[in-house]
Amino acid sequence: FFLVLEGGDGAGKSTQVEALAEWIRAKGHEVVVTREPGATPVGKRLRSILLDVSSAGLSNRAEALLYAADRAEHVDSVVRPALERGAIVISDRYIDSSVAYQGAGRDLSPIEIARISRWATDGLVPHLTVLLDVAPETARERFTEAPDRLESEPAEFHQRVRTGFLTLAAADPTRYLVVDAGQEPQEVTTVVRHRLDQLLPL
Ligand code: C5P
Repeated sequence: FFLVLEGGDGAGKSTQVEALAEWIRAKGHEVVVTREPGATPVGKRLRSILLDVSSAGLSNRAEALLYAADRAEHVDSVVRPALERGAIVISDRYIDSSVAYQGAGRDLSPIEIARISRWATDGLVPHLTVLLDVAPETARERFTEAPDRLESEPAEFHQRVRTGFLTLAAADPTRYLVVDAGQEPQEVTTVVRHRLDQLLPL
């Protein structure tokens, strides 16, 4: 089972990934927690190129391809092998982040961005994508470290990203769960657990 958590910066994805992994592990399943960008050795190098403020001015298409390269390596060396041995994989970000950030955020065609990712992943689609939705202004208050290159983008960029995610989720309600991430983290976890209980024999 392949579960993905998506959402803007500061939506609380990593907190939820950990809470859900702990809950599923306690039921005796193998859980592989992973993330994009940067889950593999090459991915870590791509992540530092992508997030360093010195990459300011990186062309939009080059940026889209670097995220896609990270994803190709991630799926090939982490996600597919884990799924093939029956593990439950929880990824912090996947294709929808590219459609939202490089598509809606940067104004590239979301269809083309999705197509690049489909090729990069050889068509691997999550069973469930949880969208942690929160207003960018609320999310920003949660930042604890200096903002990276993307977090430094203006509010309008993050608003387009949010709309991009919501548009994807609205198009396929059976494969998405949209959760109000302005709630307390425990409440968010409860909502997601409820949906997983319906989907999985846990
Ligand atoms: O979620 P995390 O903070 O690890 O993501 C790293 C950064 O990369 C974030 O600032 C996020 O906005 C950005 N990102 C992106 N496009 C993606 C994935 C992440 O711009 N496809």
